[in-house]
Amino acid sequence: MASARSAESPAENDAHAPKRVRASEAGGFRESGFRENELRENGLRENELRENGLRENELRENGLRAKAARVEGALTEAYGARVWRAENYQDDILGALVATVLSQNTSDLNSGRAYASLRLAFPGGWEDVRTASVTAVADAIRAGGLANIKAPRIQAILQDVYERNGRTDLDHIRLWDDAAIRDYLRSFHGVGAKTAACVLMFNLGRPVLPVDTHVHRVSRRLGLIGPTVTADQAHDLLPRLLDDDRIYSFHVHLIEHGRRTCHSQKPACAACPVQRECDFYNNRLWADVSGRPHDPKPRRGGPSEETRPS
Ligand code: SF4
Repeated sequence: MASARSAESPAENDAHAPKRVRASEAGGFRESGFRENELRENGLRENELRENGLRENELRENGLRAKAARVEGALTEAYGARVWRAENYQDDILGALVATVLSQNTSDLNSGRAYASLRLAFPGGWEDVRTASVTAVADAIRAGGLANIKAPRIQAILQDVYERNGRTDLDHIRLWDDAAIRDYLRSFHGVGAKTAACVLMFNLGRPVLPVDTHVHRVSRRLGLIGPTVTADQAHDLLPRLLDDDRIYSFHVHLIEHGRRTCHSQKPACAACPVQRECDFYNNRLWADVSGRPHDPKPRRGGPSEETRPS
């Protein structure tokens, strides 16, 4: 026997239809309302997390800035003040670029000798070096080592400068801003972040920090940069921790400290004026006191391959 409901005529069924549609629509609106609320709440939570993250970063950076200032103060006390003076560095930007190529993989003394010998061999200037034979240039810079690699590198830069500017000098970039000079110098083959930063800081007196092996190693051990930050990355990160007028001094001090105390293989921590600030030292000390094995990967500071401090 057919049920009362199935016995209803199609017209009667139609009469029920609008009510059911309205109910499902209402449910749909309610559901999408919940979803909207949920999405809004998620968005607010995300914003909150982002803001908290930004605040944390800001606090962390402020802490590192304070630490960098303390380190710089202690090194100034230990090694004396270091102030940039224009008269200590040559004014010739192209000469500075050549000098930094000559300084690669050799001592300051040897690269200075090679530079002086090059100027002596070609008194007519960089145009003469550009058009000379590569053998003559290599012979002139022999005192600096790797002459057969550096001579063609220097001539390639001089040639590039000549082709771009129609003359063999770089005086026209002197008034450009820091980033424009950095990018321009780095566009020459063989000129990296450190070389460009050296020219900017030493020869033009700009607040740009070159990161060489000493600056990189000491900054990592101190915990001013993380253990996996590369020297190239440190060129952007470290200057943010320093006032412009401390950048030159910080650079010179860290090199001095790396050479005199914070050696690559056996840092002389017992005699270190910034021992209290050093993550590398404090991680080791904590491991010794607690009897735990030395952390092979300290959270910040020295890389694992480095030896125990004396
Ligand atoms: S405490 Fe040791 S590792 Fe740290 S900066 Fe000084 S010499 Fe270098």
